[in-house]
Amino acid sequence: MTLHAIGVDIGATNLKLALVDSSGVVHSRAMSATPKDPDPKAVVSGIISATTAFWREAQASGFEVAGFGFGIPHFHEGRDWEQKQTNNMPSLEGYPIRPPLAEAFGDSIAMANDVSAAGIAEHMFGRGRGIERMMMVAIGTGVGTCMITREQGLVHFSWDSIGDAGMIIVDPLGRADCTCGGRGCLEALVSGPGIRQRALREIERGRPTVLADVQRAQGDIEARDVSEAARAGDRVALDLMQETGFYLGVALTSYLHIFRPNLFGLGGGVAQAGDLLIEPARQTLERLASPWYLRRLEAIEVAALGKEAAAVGCASLILHPGLYLRADEDPQS
Ligand SMILES: [Zn+2]
Repeated sequence: MTLHAIGVDIGATNLKLALVDSSGVVHSRAMSATPKDPDPKAVVSGIISATTAFWREAQASGFEVAGFGFGIPHFHEGRDWEQKQTNNMPSLEGYPIRPPLAEAFGDSIAMANDVSAAGIAEHMFGRGRGIERMMMVAIGTGVGTCMITREQGLVHFSWDSIGDAGMIIVDPLGRADCTCGGRGCLEALVSGPGIRQRALREIERGRPTVLADVQRAQGDIEARDVSEAARAGDRVALDLMQETGFYLGVALTSYLHIFRPNLFGLGGGVAQAGDLLIEPARQTLERLASPWYLRRLEAIEVAALGKEAAAVGCASLILHPGLYLRADEDPQS
């Protein structure tokens, strides 16, 4: 019988739920608003009721659910999954989330950072299939990273992840403020808001660009406007994308030397710019990286799986625990 599990991708805005089988096929899905409350108990009880309702529906349709995997946009630590660095969900900071989840759903539960979960799905069912060492860099509102190897599964040494590697410094002069409180981080420069900031500065400088018209018409601009204008040949937008790819390439070079991946998978909305981002990143890597490491890098590619990747990866933590979890956190052990 095919095993099924429920993946719950807990975003700062939305909860995405998916009933997934061991081949990564999504049998049903649901979305609801993430509860916002200064009391973490209220937030968690909202997550529990949405998940319970989805579980009941799956049972009513004849599916047996082997367990529940949860993804969060930050980190967790310790046996009780204390929530850490919860920038986008501040009420959860320090909250031990495992006990209430175990009370509602039993012991067959798992938790991962959302980018780690998306990376797991990408490694099992997407571009990472068969790849020895894959690093995922997800670029959207923020920048998240994870590293997966065939030997170790999800690599973790800091808060059940490779740490806040999106905060690697790519501008040593620190000219861009970051949401983490630091300056000059990769996230501050290449995230959606980072690209927007740099584009607004160019508009202010008065270089002729279609982006100024877009800003006038829409009242604001976003990263997607910049990649669209670049694709249409706008010089300022092309320079902005070139610069974005350069900063990304600086970070990837350091990651290459530290983690030795064979594949960089790029996820998140900003990565949809594709070659506009990847080409300058690749040129930067070729200029900066040690040839020994560079020879072993097979590709830099946009992730194949889209917005459901994190929920699928969360379910895979339950369905393929041996591949990705340490023995002491395998829900079945
Ligand atoms: Zn930062």
